[in-house]
Amino acid sequence: MKAHLSCFLVAGLLVLPVVPPAHAADPVLVVHGGAGVVRNALTPAEEAAARASLEQALRAGHARLIAGESALEAVTAAVRVLEDAPSFNAGKGAVFTHDGRNELDAALMDGATRRAGAVAGVQRVKNPVLLARAVMEKSPHVMMVGAGAEAFAKEHGIELVEPSYFRTEKRWQQLQKALREEASREAHADIETARYFGTVGAVALDAQGHLAAATSTGGMTNKRYGRVGDAPIIGAGTYADDRCAVSGTGWGEFYIRAVAAHEICARVKHAGQSIASAARGVVNDDIPRAGGDGGAIALGSDGSFALPFNTEGMYRGWIGSDGVPHVAIYATDAMQGDTLR
Ligand code: ASP
Repeated sequence: MKAHLSCFLVAGLLVLPVVPPAHAADPVLVVHGGAGVVRNALTPAEEAAARASLEQALRAGHARLIAGESALEAVTAAVRVLEDAPSFNAGKGAVFTHDGRNELDAALMDGATRRAGAVAGVQRVKNPVLLARAVMEKSPHVMMVGAGAEAFAKEHGIELVEPSYFRTEKRWQQLQKALREEASREAHADIETARYFGTVGAVALDAQGHLAAATSTGGMTNKRYGRVGDAPIIGAGTYADDRCAVSGTGWGEFYIRAVAAHEICARVKHAGQSIASAARGVVNDDIPRAGGDGGAIALGSDGSFALPFNTEGMYRGWIGSDGVPHVAIYATDAMQGDTLR
């Protein structure tokens, strides 16, 4: 619980006690599974599987919250479920690089302490969010990459898998398509870049009124040269402080340039904007104006949240005090709590 003074003296006056609420906050968990979903691209079975995994992630994280555990535990639990679900571009089911590998990025941040952990370019870590958490809790560092991050994972008993674990046929075919399109664009001297984005993320408010955010991704299909997107960069794709927590999904280069997650929270903190208007302003005004696209989930310490995006869909959901998971995919899929445009 937050420390509440029962009473105190100011300039000789007795100030009446502030009665703390029974619960400082009603726990809330919001998740996303990426803004790259294209209308009609999913079979009914794929759509059902994605919805089921979103609900499972919401329940897993919410169980932590109602047990009185921290927002950090909740976002870790929710993202772990989404990493294990092949429907999303994170953990199993991650997109392929140009060279046919899966290179995974993840980050999390604890709003109460501002501690953060991040990893990038790992190829054998089953749940990158758990490694990001270990970086935060078991090292003096914030970010580790590649082979060094995997050596750290091994030292700390984080589960490693064969790279083939991450492979799904659907993602492999997306890479083949991107390679074909790239070859034909080169033939036509077109510089447009092929991309599919996914990413998973969670933001949570715990009963103590603390926030946390976590994001995990395979990045963008056909990425090269050790490219790292916004997801593991604190302030770009992931950020949490004592008033606001954000996880982004979208064209990472634009989220990095906009320092999107921090920008949303800065508008809440310094400009007094609501979570919804700050998140909409960055996601639906600034990012598209700069030429990017995507979405984000944002949650405030008052329990208000927003899920804006400017693509055809964003896997998304939330769960609050009634314990019922609310889940949606397409922009046309109305969901209580949506703040699309
Ligand atoms: N933002 C991620 C990246 O650029 C991709 C995504 O959200 O799908 O790596």
